[in-house]
Amino acid sequence: MEKLGYSRQTQKLIYALIYDFANFWQGNEAGWKPSYIEAAYAKDILKSEFVREYDGFDYIKEPAKQLTNAIYNKDNYTCDELFDEVVRCMQSMALEKYGFSLKLCAITQKQANDFVKFLFDLALKINVPLRTEIIELLKEQHQRDYIFTDLKYRCCAICGKAGADLEHFDNVARIGGYKFDTGTKLRLLPLCREHHGEAHYIGKTQFKNKYKIQGILLSEEEVIKLFPVYKNQFKALREKIKEESKESS
Ligand SMILES: [Zn+2]
Ligand SMILES: [Zn+2]
Repeated sequence: MEKLGYSRQTQKLIYALIYDFANFWQGNEAGWKPSYIEAAYAKDILKSEFVREYDGFDYIKEPAKQLTNAIYNKDNYTCDELFDEVVRCMQSMALEKYGFSLKLCAITQKQANDFVKFLFDLALKINVPLRTEIIELLKEQHQRDYIFTDLKYRCCAICGKAGADLEHFDNVARIGGYKFDTGTKLRLLPLCREHHGEAHYIGKTQFKNKYKIQGILLSEEEVIKLFPVYKNQFKALREKIKEESKESS
């Protein structure tokens, strides 16, 4: 089990994202301070959606029983261990009701990062306008997840414009041409026409320095998720999978 606890920085980002969802659902402008009720309502909905689709929580079986046991046998634990055990049990009880605590001591950094990823993904999926500061924070602190989600929804990683192209951040000559492209050997970045043009015009190094962003390498699993988005790409991987399914049948 991973260590409980995550950074205040990530917590602030999560709340900022939730506020923009609240504004969107209430018809407020992005960046508005939603009322307590609006924010609480958005938070509950988003948490429960996340719990339904996420499989990275540590569930404790019969948490109420385990909590009672831990308190009865408190002398077997150090202070920190007992605290952790209590938090885990309480969290499991909340999860059973499709909720969870966002307190700094209650989830792991990985779970917090995955929640950020989920929120950004949903924002792009249902077109929730996000503040520029939030986009900048995502770009800076969660760059890999940020770019992957942009790839998935074809949004420019620089300006967010829809209908972005798939830019190969590394020269395709390195792998001998596009027919050898499995999608896993060259770094990828989604760019709108304007930023794509600029990347070629000023060169990748300058582009990277100017926007503090570069392409990411994907795993095979991630590329497969992008198959329906980029129908004419990743030829070599599509063929490899076809060959493998022939062999196994
Ligand atoms: Zn752009
Ligand atoms: Zn290009």
